Amino acid sequence: MKAVFASRNSHKAEQVALLLPGVQIISLDDVAPDLILEEPFDSFEENALAKARAARIATGLPVTADDSGLEVDALGGEPGVRSARFAGEAATDRENNRLLVARLRNVPEHLRTCRYRCVAVMILADGRELVAEGLCAGSVLLEGRGALGFGYDPHVVPDGETRTMGEIPLDEKLTFSHRGRAFRALATALAQQE
Ligand code: IMP
Repeated sequence: MKAVFASRNSHKAEQVALLLPGVQIISLDDVAPDLILEEPFDSFEENALAKARAARIATGLPVTADDSGLEVDALGGEPGVRSARFAGEAATDRENNRLLVARLRNVPEHLRTCRYRCVAVMILADGRELVAEGLCAGSVLLEGRGALGFGYDPHVVPDGETRTMGEIPLDEKLTFSHRGRAFRALATALAQQE
């Protein structure tokens, strides 16, 4: 099958193409270059469905989407659904990471626990909606390391690792990451459809 990936994030698109090998991923830029994807809700699921439904209406094609972010326990779960715009609407990864580090500067290392969360969704040709979630627990490192990945990856050390997400190659990262888990569960749900 073919599905539009309702995102402008090329890092995510690369990951999703690897995680859904049975699905031919169509870039949103090719079929709806002007569509603005909004994330107005307080839950990852509602935001993922909102992006998928908008792309579905714009293209009429099957679509897949995700909404994801970093939840830091010492910050009451922030930045959460606001991860991409933690430091402001048009914030860069560098600005978001700087704010994260500033907020956690005085928090002891053992209390800097966090998790990445991803909700992956798919809307099938007949309009059925599939939803799956994946988590990846870890802790926040104040001094960032590694140039792989994107977003908060240089500052997140997954549980059981000494490397940051920014130091772990993509094929290895996808075996345990939030997005890896969410899209593998989505692929399982898809395989169970008639
Ligand atoms: P959204 O899902 O497009 O709203 O963006 C999620 C934001 O959460 C990204 O811009 C990153 O800041 C962060 N994020 C989500 N997943 C990852 C990841 O796998 N690595 C690093 N940062 C991530």
